[in-house]
Amino acid sequence: MSSSDLSPLMRQYQDIKRGYPDAILFFRVGDFYEMFYEDAQEASKLLSITLTSRDKNSPAPVPLCGVPYHAATGYIAKLLSAGRTVALCEQVEDPKNAKGLVQREVVRLYTPGTLIDTELLSPGESNFLAAVADSTRSHSGGLREIFGLAALDVSTGSFWVMEFKGDQASDHLADEIVRLEPRELLYASMEGLDRPRWLHRIKGPRVCAQPTQWFEPANAARQLEQQFQVSSLDGLGCAGLTVAIRAAGAVLRYFHETQPNATLNHVRRLQIRWDRDAMHLDSVTIRNLELTRPMAIEADQAWRVDSTLLGVLDRTCSAMGSRLLREWLLRPLIRLEDIAARLDAVGEFKDRLPERVSVRTALRSVQDIARISTRIALGVATPRDLRALAQSLAVLPEVRKRLDGFSAKLVADLLRSWDDAVDLYDAIDAALLPDAPHSWRDGNLIRDGYDAGVDDLRNASREGKNWIAGLEAREKERTGIESLKIRYNHVFGYYIEVTKANLPRVPDDYIRKQTLANAERYMTPALKELEERVTGAEEKLVALECELFEALRSRLGQQTHRLQAMAGALATLDVLSALAEAAALRGYARPLVDGQGSIVIRDGRHPVVEQLEGGQPFVPNDALLDMDKNRLMILTGPNMAGKSTFLRQVGLIVLMAQIGSFVPAAEARIGLVDRIFTRVGASDNLARGQSTFMVEMVETAHILNSATDRSLILLDEIGRGTSTYDGLSIAWAVAEYIQDRACLGARTLFATHYHEMTQLERLRDGIKNYRVDVREEKGQVTFLRRIVAGGADRSYGIHVAQLAGLPSRVIHRAQQVLAQLERSDTGIPTVREDSQGSLYDHSLPQPHPLVDELRQLDLFAMTPLEALNRLADWQRRLREPTS
Ligand code: ADP
Ligand code: MG
Repeated sequence: MSSSDLSPLMRQYQDIKRGYPDAILFFRVGDFYEMFYEDAQEASKLLSITLTSRDKNSPAPVPLCGVPYHAATGYIAKLLSAGRTVALCEQVEDPKNAKGLVQREVVRLYTPGTLIDTELLSPGESNFLAAVADSTRSHSGGLREIFGLAALDVSTGSFWVMEFKGDQASDHLADEIVRLEPRELLYASMEGLDRPRWLHRIKGPRVCAQPTQWFEPANAARQLEQQFQVSSLDGLGCAGLTVAIRAAGAVLRYFHETQPNATLNHVRRLQIRWDRDAMHLDSVTIRNLELTRPMAIEADQAWRVDSTLLGVLDRTCSAMGSRLLREWLLRPLIRLEDIAARLDAVGEFKDRLPERVSVRTALRSVQDIARISTRIALGVATPRDLRALAQSLAVLPEVRKRLDGFSAKLVADLLRSWDDAVDLYDAIDAALLPDAPHSWRDGNLIRDGYDAGVDDLRNASREGKNWIAGLEAREKERTGIESLKIRYNHVFGYYIEVTKANLPRVPDDYIRKQTLANAERYMTPALKELEERVTGAEEKLVALECELFEALRSRLGQQTHRLQAMAGALATLDVLSALAEAAALRGYARPLVDGQGSIVIRDGRHPVVEQLEGGQPFVPNDALLDMDKNRLMILTGPNMAGKSTFLRQVGLIVLMAQIGSFVPAAEARIGLVDRIFTRVGASDNLARGQSTFMVEMVETAHILNSATDRSLILLDEIGRGTSTYDGLSIAWAVAEYIQDRACLGARTLFATHYHEMTQLERLRDGIKNYRVDVREEKGQVTFLRRIVAGGADRSYGIHVAQLAGLPSRVIHRAQQVLAQLERSDTGIPTVREDSQGSLYDHSLPQPHPLVDELRQLDLFAMTPLEALNRLADWQRRLREPTS
């Protein structure tokens, strides 16, 4: 259809839509936002609303759907979570004043990574917009890739960059993105090229390629210089991070492109994150340890957060605290003094019950200051936001007083830079009515006595109303009409109403305005004058209140840095006291974290499993790992005995200690760990199109290639995904490799159902056997859940099969077959028992002698015929293996 066939409205729509081809355009028509064409088709499906059409009788009706304007937010949220963006197009002039078509404009583009709206954000989660830049440099002969990552949470103003170098740069980048869970991820589009390799592992955020120029160093530097009002980047402390800066520039550019009317005044700092500040947790370990999400869930299935470590630990009182705890959990510390500082503070909160209770009570009335202060800075905070802020600031002096006697360094540091912000509280409280509404455009905001102008106008309108009441009494008397009333409505303003029966008594100076079925409405010059006084005053009052509110908000907007600082302080206190609360409630002990390398846990428990309802009471267990005689613990025992639980429990206790939390154990000494690696079986990755066994091997390879002798490795059922001999051989070789100090020597828990592995204890140093104990009576197996020294001698698979209810004939036959197999000589793989030192020194395959000859061949000194003859000779020798 050519555009001349379109109605003027549709032509206007098309003009506006052209500017937002990728977004769904919400086009305001009266009380609805309407969507047309493909937008309507798509949105009607995503929102489950009816698809109709405009001009049903025309030969080519336009598909149409719509949502009421007051309910738009919920629909926008749905479209955003489906990965779409929404352009909100408003009528920007009053239809009453419009000559012809009402003017319309897009006033905002909603994208998942640029949100600041309370209704669209999830309180306990950050909302990052991230970008990745990469660069390939030649480095000692080879090429080396460097990645820069930048992340901005517009809703709180937090903005940081990080760089990744070295062999595993792309893995580390992908892991960081998984931890970050950005809502939108930008990268430089490269025409004709596929999506970059690191992107393959990322799922979840809206990923969008952006113009390469945005990532160019000069453009990026300009963005940052403008943002932070500096003339060179040196002052920001990120001068060397050229790749990260390019990503940061792209983030800023994207924000300004999509939100042309918004500023980022509240973003005052570019933080630099270094690898060395926190433990690098890979995404596999985060998943296996079920830190923030249980493992066995489908993407959109509802799940209980309390079946995760976060769920168990999150006793925070505020959304800010909840977000910070999540961050701590995913970034455990790796410096002893940092860990001790947190443990000290948690310990003090645990010991000081009255202070803990009153601080936490105060924190419960703290709203999301971080996000409110952002909305203030961006000029969109509502009167209710400001009231919520005041309510939050009101607790500051009380909290400070309660913390006065604390000696923990973290708390003392917070107190040193404490800000009661009484002036800010007073400014809000003096101005705003306690029950100020959401909107600042309809009045009823400002307290009496705050502003003389407001008081005068309020008086004028009140007095005017009194005079009108007086006028009614006087007119009744003058006319003798008892039922005469002065009333008001929006269309006619004030009027005098007289019923039909009394019409003969209406005086001559009444001017008729409207006739009803049983009454007439009039006005008089005196009434008109009073009306102007009242409504004039009211209009002026609303405008003045709005002006005063906006002035207050912009004054507060100058104080964003103070609000952000106190938001940070309160979040920290919230997390520290929540960890103390969890420790007190669940009977956790303070771990001793040192650099000695031993992990000694007495009566450790799994923090999540012990909380599960309906199960048997949890049986605590000890663990002992060190860097000497107890480096590798081989744990055997039947299926369902508790091996996997024990492995995770040790991993979780170490992780909890290193975030500064107390731990579920009677006593724990934790020798600092640089990384925790897990390979836990049975996590099917069929969805990603890889076989389970392949995934298992990829994850194992990753561990063997990345771990150091300071790492903690948890291996669960390696080699299970293939045939018994294959699997056992791989498990055996992996255990040897880890055990060998020349190769790895990391502290390791190795759970396996191959009881043959227990022979390693005898063959290698640093290996200890343990098993999960079971009691066997009359062929029945009872799980005791106790870990004891020594290995299991059998796999008990048949017992488990019996428990599961396989027919007794099958069980019986299986026992026969097992007995036969065990009699035949097919036990463990043959490994030389006398081998000393590293297996790998002498067991590498020797190269074939022909390889040497090939290497020494001088091709340029040969004729083609000579070469052919040499090939024939080699082939002959290869075919006679004896030569
Ligand atoms: P495995 O890995 O040996 O097959 P799991 O670790 O999966 O066994 O544990 C099997 C079941 O036993 C789990 O449902 C768990 O809740 C329970 N369980 C494990 N360890 C304990 C324990 N120490 N106390 C009580 N129940 C436990
Ligand atoms: Mg298991």
